[in-house]
Amino acid sequence: MDERTLTPGARAMRGERDGWLARIDFDMAPFTIAWEVTRACAYACDHCRADAQHRRDPRELTTAEGMALIDDLARFGRPILVLTGGDPLMRPDLFDLAAHADAAGLRVSLTPTATALVTADRMARARDAGIRRVAFSLDAPTAEVHDRFRGFAGSFERTVRGMRAAGDAGLALQVNTTVYADNADSLADMVPLLQEWGVVQWSVFFLVPTGRGARLAMLDADGHERVLGWLHDLTGTVGFDIKATAAPHYRRIALQRAARASLGDRLEGVAGAGFRYADGLDRPMKGVNDGRGFMFISHTGDVTPSGFLPIVAGNVREAGAVDIYRDAPLFRELRDPALLKGKCGRCGFKEVCGGSRARAYGVTGDHLAEDPSCVYVPA
Ligand code: SF4
Repeated sequence: MDERTLTPGARAMRGERDGWLARIDFDMAPFTIAWEVTRACAYACDHCRADAQHRRDPRELTTAEGMALIDDLARFGRPILVLTGGDPLMRPDLFDLAAHADAAGLRVSLTPTATALVTADRMARARDAGIRRVAFSLDAPTAEVHDRFRGFAGSFERTVRGMRAAGDAGLALQVNTTVYADNADSLADMVPLLQEWGVVQWSVFFLVPTGRGARLAMLDADGHERVLGWLHDLTGTVGFDIKATAAPHYRRIALQRAARASLGDRLEGVAGAGFRYADGLDRPMKGVNDGRGFMFISHTGDVTPSGFLPIVAGNVREAGAVDIYRDAPLFRELRDPALLKGKCGRCGFKEVCGGSRARAYGVTGDHLAEDPSCVYVPA
């Protein structure tokens, strides 16, 4: 990306990011924090984690509480702060919060819902507030199927328009796709669209049965292996980075393939580790998992290891987010691979993978159980 097309925040980040990225210790700080600034959303998507509602919840964190939360999160260093929802554009103070986070040194991205609220003016305000990247959800390559998933006719077209508005404002673009049994076969048809739109990252999220998503059918373990293998084949052949979300066994597949190709046992370059972006939202060198490099803060301040693992470790109205991440027993358990059960506990890849803790919980009710979406059988 040309230097002139970077947001002010991204320019400031250049030269500063490498030190923090190299030093980060997941026992002390997450790489990414997702803050659900509101649960309000105009849509009613089939797979919504948040079970989003059309109106804002009066118990949402206030502007002052949000500012104080950001000040606390800045104690971590330079994590990525994803402003999510619901639809974050339904908060009138969104850009004030984003500007405060950018000024505090956080690397801010935004995941708006593709509604009429995504205008050229709002995307320009997002850029000026220091937001570096905007991520839109797209679950199918055609309007007919995507609109059905989203429960809103015209959603596909709105997504295309929103991408254009964000791109014209100079923001980097990301597409998030939720994969489950019904849409896995249409993923390949999405690739030309992503290329055409010039996205920098395709974040492919493997369904976790929670919220409204519990009504949908996950891929089985063979299906996960097939799609993850296909994504790995695609890596490097397209003009965007690919990230598998809620599927840490992507790292196991990448390592197995690297070993077969005699590339050694390093993750770097084989599973997106350390991938660098012009917008500064680089990939970590180590594998992130729920509670290990990642934390989620709900609209009412509840802290959980991810948005898909609904066990509350504390609330920012009662304790600091930094203290909860570092010291809550739940988070400490999730960062200890020795506590994993079943085949994940016996697996030689548990340090780099560990299985999706959210899926293990969603399927079994035990956040330390084995991830049922993995075909690997440890010796
Ligand atoms: S068995 Fe568990 S830890 Fe091992 S690769 Fe599969 S999901 Fe990862």
